[in-house]
Amino acid sequence: MIFRKLKNLFKKRKDFDLESYLKKLSINRQDLIKTISDIDLDSPINAYLTLAILLKEKGEYYKSLKVLERLRKENLTPYEERLVILNLALVYKAAGFLDRAEDALKEGINRFPDESFFYYELARIRAISGKFEESVELLEKASQLKEEFYDELIHTKLYLADRYIDEGRTDKASRIVRKTNLKVPIPLLYYVLSKLYYSVGEGEKGYKSALKGIKLSPKHAYPFIQVIENFGELTYERLKEIIEISHFSLPAVSKGVEFLLREGNTDEALSLLDRYSLNGGKFSASLFETYLKLMWERGQRKQVVNKVIQYLDTLKKKEKLFKCENCGYRTDNFDWVCPRCKSWESLEINSEV
Ligand SMILES: [Zn+2]
Repeated sequence: MIFRKLKNLFKKRKDFDLESYLKKLSINRQDLIKTISDIDLDSPINAYLTLAILLKEKGEYYKSLKVLERLRKENLTPYEERLVILNLALVYKAAGFLDRAEDALKEGINRFPDESFFYYELARIRAISGKFEESVELLEKASQLKEEFYDELIHTKLYLADRYIDEGRTDKASRIVRKTNLKVPIPLLYYVLSKLYYSVGEGEKGYKSALKGIKLSPKHAYPFIQVIENFGELTYERLKEIIEISHFSLPAVSKGVEFLLREGNTDEALSLLDRYSLNGGKFSASLFETYLKLMWERGQRKQVVNKVIQYLDTLKKKEKLFKCENCGYRTDNFDWVCPRCKSWESLEINSEV
């Protein structure tokens, strides 16, 4: 069925308008083909390729694979073959056949050893399987061929270092960190540095690194506070410093309130929340609940009612702790890489209220 359609598509190529065809399927062509750069949509092979990608986007993996496998048997130029193999791998990956995706990528590397995308995609699959060492090796190669993969390499390396620290292999972790040469500092570096210092007993340096990370990226205050709490010592004095440095970031204020309430200091907690609210701070559902309770206990009933009415709609929504600013993915577990779109440092505390 699909092949008949394709044949017609080819026959009618002269007056075939791919743009309107895609528009009819309400798919944005630019979004659709961004995985393959500088594609010439006027060549027939690319019409097929676009169709294969389109089918992939629609979740029709089997059909997409059929189109691509069929394409492969055609007389292709090296450039076209490269695109077909790469897309085969991407469809296999999207369909969950990681083994086959890997095979296709390895074949791609054999055929086109200078094509960085094969190393890059293979590295990402290795990372999905938890093989970060191999992933780093592949990304070294990819970034040698194409500089834009350097960022991915650095993040993956530091992620690997973080795992080494968790496994107690601090020597390996520190070797990675020492070799990491950054033009622009990134939060993940300070996170790993902080954990590394703590794990070799340099608590003060660990704390200082965490502060640097928070200063660099206040929205990531949460993982840094966790490191200080789990590996070092988190006092209210320090939390005040963190709240200051992070310009009243939600994670820091939440933690501060939690601390004060544990000590039974409801006055200070309420005044911290008042200041936060006055500063235009956004609340998580649980912090907002705390705020309302404190106000209620204090007898500020009218304020409570006003706040509730103001925020009722947003409170109804089911909330997850973190949200990816890139793809909107929601989760309760913090990670430096978004589990869905794989972008780095994109998860932040979900502030809907
Ligand atoms: Zn995402």
